[in-house]
Amino acid sequence: MKYDIVVIGSGPGGYIGAIRAAQLGKKVAIIEKYSTLGGTCLNVGCIPSKALLDSSHHYYDAVHYFEEHGISVENPSFDFGKMVDRKAKVVEQTTGGINFLMDKNNIDVYEGLGSFEDATHVKITKKDGSSEVIEGTNIIIATGSKPSTLPFISIDKERVITSTEALTLKEVPKHLLVIGGGVIGLELGSVYKRLGAEVTVIEYASSITPNMDADVSKELQKVLKKQGMKFNVSHGVTAVERKGNEVVVKAKNKKGEEVEFTGDYCLVAVGRRPYTDGLALDKAGVKATERGQIEVNDHLQTNVSNIYAIGDVVRGAMLAHKAEEEGVVVAEYLAGQKPHIDYNLIPGIVYTWPEVAAVGKTEQELKDANVEYKAGKFPMRALGRSRASGDLDGFVKVLADKNTDEILGVHMVGARVADLIMEMAVAMEFRASAEDIARICHGHPTYSEAIKEAAKTAWDGMPLNS
Ligand SMILES: Cc1cc2nc3c(=O)[nH]c(=O)nc-3n(C[C@H](O)[C@H](O)[C@H](O)COP(=O)(O)OP(=O)(O)OC[C@H]3O[C@@H](n4cnc5c(N)ncnc54)[C@H](O)[C@@H]3O)c2cc1C
Repeated sequence: MKYDIVVIGSGPGGYIGAIRAAQLGKKVAIIEKYSTLGGTCLNVGCIPSKALLDSSHHYYDAVHYFEEHGISVENPSFDFGKMVDRKAKVVEQTTGGINFLMDKNNIDVYEGLGSFEDATHVKITKKDGSSEVIEGTNIIIATGSKPSTLPFISIDKERVITSTEALTLKEVPKHLLVIGGGVIGLELGSVYKRLGAEVTVIEYASSITPNMDADVSKELQKVLKKQGMKFNVSHGVTAVERKGNEVVVKAKNKKGEEVEFTGDYCLVAVGRRPYTDGLALDKAGVKATERGQIEVNDHLQTNVSNIYAIGDVVRGAMLAHKAEEEGVVVAEYLAGQKPHIDYNLIPGIVYTWPEVAAVGKTEQELKDANVEYKAGKFPMRALGRSRASGDLDGFVKVLADKNTDEILGVHMVGARVADLIMEMAVAMEFRASAEDIARICHGHPTYSEAIKEAAKTAWDGMPLNS
C-alpha cells in the first residue's frame, strides 16, 4: 500500500496529525504497536490520571468538607477496585472514540511495531510475528516517550513503580514514597494522599515543580503540606532497595547527610525519555540525540527531508496539547499551508487541588533576560466565589512589561485555574496589555475575577477588592 502520509504512533500527536492530514485530502495510514489507540495520554497518562484525581477528590471532599457545607455522610468510604474500574471505562470510551475518528476520516489503522526499511518504507511487525511493508511519501514519527528512571534504580513494577503501574495498583499504599516533585509525582501523590496513604515526596531540586514560577511552587508546596503530604526538597536519591513488601529510599540532603525513607511503594517520577526503540532510525538515516530525542528544524522536519517528528519524541514540553499542535502543524505544512506554533504560549497545568496553571514567562525567566517587568498578584481568598465554595488557597499573578504593559506571563494557583488559564493565553496571543484585561467585564462571582484584579494590580497597582 502506498500513502501520502504514514504516521508512526497514535498518541495525541500522531492521531491528531493523521486526522488533520486526512481533512486536507491526504491518504493517511497510522501505525500503533498496542491494540488500543491514543498513546500515553489516553491509556496511561492524562486521562486515567484525571479520572483517579476526580474520584479521589470527591472522596476527600466528603471526608473533609461536606460537614462544613452542612452535609452529613456517615463514615464516608470508597471501593478502590470500583474507582480503578471506572477509570478503565473512561479510558476505554476515550480510546474507542479514536477508532471512530480514524474510521470517520478514512485513515487506515495498522496494529504492530513500525520500523523503517528505508526513508519511504515502514515495516509493520504484528503480534503474531507476521509483517507487511507500507510506503509513505512522507512519514511522521510520533512515537512519544516512556517513563525514565535513575541508573541505580530497578523498576520492578510491583513496589518500585512508574506512573503506569501507579494507575493500576490493586490497593492504596500505606506509605507511598514519591521520587520527583514534578507534575506526575504530585498528581499521583495527591490521588493516594486523598485516599488515606502517607505520601513522602523526595525532590532533588530546591523546590517542587522546579520549572514553574517560584511563587507558584512555594504556594503549591504549602497547600499540599497542609493536606498532609511530606516534602524533602534538595534531597538527591542515592539508592532504592526493595525489602520484601517494603521499599527503602536512601538520599543525601543539603548538608550531605544520608537519610532513609521507608514505604510500601515507591513511585519513580523523575521524568520521561523520548521513545524510539525498535524504529530502526538508522535505516532511514534519521538523526537523534544520545537521549533518543529526534532532531528537527522549525518545521518539525528531521534531517531526512520527507520525514517529520512531533510530540514527546522531539524537543520541548512533554505535553499532550503541544504534541497535538505539532501534529496539526506538520499536516498543514505538508498540505502547502504556512502554519505556526507559539511555543511561548503552551499552557502548563498541574491537576492537584488547588490546580496550578501558567502561560508565558516566569519571573526568573524575565530577570534572566533582563526584561523590565511589573507584577500584579491577587489572592483567591479575597473573592466572593472562593468564599462561597470554600476554595480559599492560591492566587493569580500577572507579569507585564514595565514600559508597554504587555502581558508576558501569568501564573495561577487555585480552584479551576486549569480552565481559567486559557483566557490569558488568548489575551497574550493577541498581545493584550494588563490594562486591557483589567477593563474587561468579568462575570461575578467567578474565580476569573482574580485575573481581572491581578491584571489591574499589574497595570496601576490598585486592586479593587483587596
Ligand atoms: C501520568 C501522566 C499524566 C499526564 N498528564 C498529562 C496532562 O494532564 N496533560 C498533558 O498535556 N500531558 C500529560 N501527560 C503527558 C502526555 O501524556 C504526553 O505528553 C503525550 O501523550 C505525548 O503525546 P505523543 O503523541 O508525543 O506520544 P504518546 O502519547 O507517548 O504516543 C506514542 C505512541 O506511539 C506508539 N509507538 C511507539 N513506538 C512505536 C512503533 N515503533 N511503532 C508503532 N507504534 C509505536 C506508542 O505505543 C504510543 O501509543 C501525562 C503523562 C503521564 C505519564
